[in-house]
Amino acid sequence: MRITGIRIGRLVIPLLKPFKTALRSTDAVATNIVEVTTDGPFSGYGEAPPTAAITGETDGSIRGAIETRIAAALTGKDAENLNELLDALERSIVGNSSAKAAVDAALHDLWGKCCGMPLYRLLGGSGRVLSTDYTISLNEPEEMARDTKEAVSKGYRALKIKVGSDLALDMARLSAVRKSAGPDILLRADANQGWKPKEAIRAIKFMEDSGLAVELVEQPVASWDIEGLKQVTEAVDTPVMADESARSPRDALKLIASRAADMINIKLMKSGGIRGALAICAMAESAGMECMIGCMMESKISVTAAAHLAMARGVITRCDLDAPILCSEDPVGGGAEYSGTSITVTDSPGLGIESVRNVVWQ
Ligand code: MG
Repeated sequence: MRITGIRIGRLVIPLLKPFKTALRSTDAVATNIVEVTTDGPFSGYGEAPPTAAITGETDGSIRGAIETRIAAALTGKDAENLNELLDALERSIVGNSSAKAAVDAALHDLWGKCCGMPLYRLLGGSGRVLSTDYTISLNEPEEMARDTKEAVSKGYRALKIKVGSDLALDMARLSAVRKSAGPDILLRADANQGWKPKEAIRAIKFMEDSGLAVELVEQPVASWDIEGLKQVTEAVDTPVMADESARSPRDALKLIASRAADMINIKLMKSGGIRGALAICAMAESAGMECMIGCMMESKISVTAAAHLAMARGVITRCDLDAPILCSEDPVGGGAEYSGTSITVTDSPGLGIESVRNVVWQ
């Protein structure tokens, strides 16, 4: 079975309410769906939303990378020879991690279908149930407290709290959220690069001294400031997680080797897909570090790929795959199944995606 091409379409899903971080605000998942086609009975699905503020990619760059470089590198190749395809994908163009992640997921989907097995099984997983946290967007403290109450009433036991703007306001946000959540809810703070290293140390020490019981702090400083990240990690007791600083397996290698962070947030759009994510998992495992699986503002197609990965790697101990929950509708049939905080996948081959509505194929 040979690969015959890659088609790309647009999918826009309005969010229930705007998603706001220190870096950006958005009111929809606007993403690029890819389908790797073959001359046989199977095709594979993947997806890449543009997250320019993090990966530097736009709709145009994702399309361009796939249409001009990646499709040419894969067309005509044996669809069942996964590693050769992933090598060709990696070599096809420098960077462009989200474009690669879309095609990487589609190739893994296709591989699973060729093997007649769900991807998590092929990756050695047991099909454990994942439990996702839920994100509280960056707003005024009162609004964040209200959102927290609502999330807790829906059953979420772990919340990711967006901070990273004004330091005093951030502390007021966390205090209001903790008060609203009560003592039993796990709180994770994500500053999305919003603080300088010394501000971050001050903020985290405040959290520790005032009993806010924040489980971890994600990306306190600028993505490029690895020295600053290390300075923060060494100065506080609270675990520090790298997100935007870990934009590739090579970034992760440097972070792990220098112990600049305690944990890594793996996102397929940064790692270039499942292969790169597996490389990060292996490095983290060797270093005794734990990872979170996260996502951008993605639809359920690429989130399903992330779920299959997480089910197959014990080093992924935390799950932040709430983007489909934030959407006003789910146009994806099959794939990951959400029930309360739990995520499971079906035993259908590959990713188990059955249909995708509302895609405008181009
Ligand atoms: Mg983050």
